[in-house]
Amino acid sequence: MAAPQRLRAALALVTGGGGGIGASVCARLAREGARVAVADRDEAAAAHTARGLPRAEPGQEHEAFGVDVACARSVSQLLAQVQARFSAAPHVCVNCAGITRDEFLLKQTEAAFDEVIAVNLKGTFLVMQAVAQALVQSGALGGSIINLGSIVGKVGNLGQVNYVASKAGVEGLTKTAAKELARYGIRCNVVLPGFIRTPMTDQVPPKVMEKLLALVPMGRLGDPEEVADVCAFLASEESRYITGASVEVTGGLFL
Ligand code: NAD
Repeated sequence: MAAPQRLRAALALVTGGGGGIGASVCARLAREGARVAVADRDEAAAAHTARGLPRAEPGQEHEAFGVDVACARSVSQLLAQVQARFSAAPHVCVNCAGITRDEFLLKQTEAAFDEVIAVNLKGTFLVMQAVAQALVQSGALGGSIINLGSIVGKVGNLGQVNYVASKAGVEGLTKTAAKELARYGIRCNVVLPGFIRTPMTDQVPPKVMEKLLALVPMGRLGDPEEVADVCAFLASEESRYITGASVEVTGGLFL
């Protein structure tokens, strides 16, 4: 089925676009007509995603960028490069960059805790702030920022103290930004996936995955495309009265 063209000519920045959910988000936004800036720490992976995106019209161009979202200098360079390349601030931003370093609380190292908070929470803050500043400075009214949280940020999960803390933080960050940025017409929402089939969940041992699947009423993992569909809706004008919302994409999972 052909995707609707809800994002024609919009410029979208997607972090973590090199793989998993981020790559599916890039594909979905491009199919909706957006120009996509694909950003990832893995530059080769970002370039691979960008090469595969549809270019339906002559003006619909895509570009890959390297970035470490945990580093303020790298993020501000990214925004400068994106604006120079496309002569516009990104009207849509989807923050998908994220990592796990799982370990039980009793064994969790300070380094693993700090690393996950730096990428997932501080990284989301830095990109969100840089995009909002660029939009406000450009004078363009409007914008949609979508952050990837996780259902585990609401309910906790064994072996993920660092990750759960980061994702609970992303939800609070998003709701606060929604309140502050509404006056500029910028909407901010958070998507809370359950268990989605990506390289991140490929790391989960099969025995653990079996137990997790038993908790999903729909009885299966989600596909990255099913998260991307929700991001495209939140990016589009069809969600124009939705801001500060947490949207669960879990197949009914409630841990
Ligand atoms: P993934 O590991 O498949 O992809 C994450 C991408 O982020 C990779 O391309 C990686 O190179 C990039 N990345 C990592 N650190 C980075 C950094 N410092 N700077 C820039 N890019 C960086 O993961 P995924 O499963 O696609 O997850 C995407 C988002 O969705 C993450 O925020 C994750 O926490 C969240 N999420 C995933 C699931 C799931 O089941 N897969 C569930 C809930 C939430």
